[in-house]
Amino acid sequence: MYNPYEIREEFPILQREVYGKKLIYLDNAATTQKPLCVIEAITEAYTNVNANVHRGVHFLSQKATEQYEDARETVRAFINARHRHEVIFTRGTTESINLVAASFGESFLQSGDEVIVSTMEHHSNIVPWQLLVERIGIKLRVIPLTADTKLDVEAYRALFNEKTRFVSITHTSNVLGVTNPVKEFINIAHEHNVPVLIDGAQSVPHKKVDVQELDADFFVFSGHKIYGPTGIGVLYGKEEILNRMSPYQGGGEMIQTVRFEKTTFNELPYKFEAGTPDYVGAIALAKALDFVSAIGIENIAAHEQYLTRYALEQLKEIPAMHIFGQPDGSAISFLVGDIHPADLGTLLDRLGIAIRTGHHCAQPLIDYFGIPGTVRASFALYNTCEEVDALVAGINRVAKMFG
Ligand code: PMP
Repeated sequence: MYNPYEIREEFPILQREVYGKKLIYLDNAATTQKPLCVIEAITEAYTNVNANVHRGVHFLSQKATEQYEDARETVRAFINARHRHEVIFTRGTTESINLVAASFGESFLQSGDEVIVSTMEHHSNIVPWQLLVERIGIKLRVIPLTADTKLDVEAYRALFNEKTRFVSITHTSNVLGVTNPVKEFINIAHEHNVPVLIDGAQSVPHKKVDVQELDADFFVFSGHKIYGPTGIGVLYGKEEILNRMSPYQGGGEMIQTVRFEKTTFNELPYKFEAGTPDYVGAIALAKALDFVSAIGIENIAAHEQYLTRYALEQLKEIPAMHIFGQPDGSAISFLVGDIHPADLGTLLDRLGIAIRTGHHCAQPLIDYFGIPGTVRASFALYNTCEEVDALVAGINRVAKMFG
């Protein structure tokens, strides 16, 4: 195990106050705070190795390229991809899904083809596919929830037909904090020869992910949710599918030769990395992954699961508390009586407690519950039981004010 109190010291922002109160940061599902080593990696890259990657013969360009490609190897090892070139750097989960939707859509989808998503998707795993409804005429099919707010496996099985071409589902819900048995969902899709994308934005920071073991065809996540910088993320894809997909964006680096008559494209992963990549972001993301690995993702998972259980026990004692779904990971969504989530959020903020309120970019799920939104507390490796106690005390205080 590790000591979360000691680890906190490595996160400068956690030392600050808001409104003269100690900051209690419980909005980690939106973004995580950064350890000093990640902040320093960004400064170090710009201070000592900055030069455009891949194209230069000079010393700095080679150094930058080396570190960028080392970062790709760090990501590969972190998710256990088979090949380094199956790791494509993007701006984040959203761009990764847009890349797959646009490119897979162009290469393989036709009017009438069907793509399966679920009721608990983030907008970034709904809207890119909806764009294909408009552009190509595909149909979206939606996995419903069971009475206990889990993905309905039997209903999912029944959605498959000869028109089903793709499945795109989340590993862990950013609203409910529930982790879906995605391996089972992938196996079912593969029985129908249908590839699957797993949105790992909320799973990778909290549990060990092995893309080969999952047999995911695509797996995507964002750097900023796993202690890395903003603006960098990952698309993992199986080599054989990526090779058959058309490029997403055109520009430098993704080409082999350009003639006005005909352009040929670069090999993986560069085919999907048009333009100057965020090599500094990638280098700092690798630092963040090394930081997580040094603590041990299993240790982080154990700590966060303990915190979640500890929080649930106490939250359940609050009168008129309603917890949505059955959180098993790091996020808990709730409402207290008829206190509007925005009111609860604003008053908690005044106590120095940062939580998120609203639809969490998952409006279809919020509509399913027929509510205006939820309050969501989400944990990271540096949160403590005292912070959970403060959250609970804060909610009790606000609830009293509302009578
Ligand atoms: N999917 C899920 C499950 C998420 O939680 C988020 C971020 N809230 C995203 C996708 C989008 O991530 P990003 O904004 O980093 O692209």
